[in-house]
Amino acid sequence: MKKIALFPGSFDPLTNGHLDTIERATNIFDEVIVAVSTNTTKKSLFNGEERIALAKEVLKDVPGTKVVRHTGGLTVDMAEELHVSAMLRGIRNMKDYEYEESIAMMNRSQNPKIETVILMASEKYRFLSSSLIKEVAMFGGDISEFVPSVVNQAIIKKYQDMSDDEHM
Ligand code: ADP
Repeated sequence: MKKIALFPGSFDPLTNGHLDTIERATNIFDEVIVAVSTNTTKKSLFNGEERIALAKEVLKDVPGTKVVRHTGGLTVDMAEELHVSAMLRGIRNMKDYEYEESIAMMNRSQNPKIETVILMASEKYRFLSSSLIKEVAMFGGDISEFVPSVVNQAIIKKYQDMSDDEHM
């Protein structure tokens, strides 16, 4: 049977850290489905459509990957509907560990059949987060080594458009 992983997240936006986790997971799973949540409680820079479009653009050349919109219900229900073998998440540090552990335990209580597989972040991406990227880019910093080039361009344009709006 085909081994599929479901990687849920807000991906606002997708970084090289996410990409690294996805690529490494394709060595374990036949397919990695990235589920972009669009009704997150976090205030997002990119709307759902934009985050999905960016993830699709980045992953179009990565075999064994697919991007979908998170259905909005329980992630374990989505996982069951898609017949996935496991949910995929990444951890960078102890703070992530505690957060991911509680999500994994809660998901298990909702559906014991769905396992969670957690990959350790690669050393060079351990300090990388979407929120840090956005903060640096907002103040004009160079984030090109931390995100795929389409994402870099989209962030620059987003802040440019926002600053144009402010000056109108
Ligand atoms: P969420 O809002 O669900 O936390 P994120 O887009 O922030 O979504 O993260 C999705 C997953 O990717 C989480 O499991 C997170 O721990 C992981 N992740 C985030 N940044 C990195 C990184 N630099 N390296 C590896 N995994 C990461």
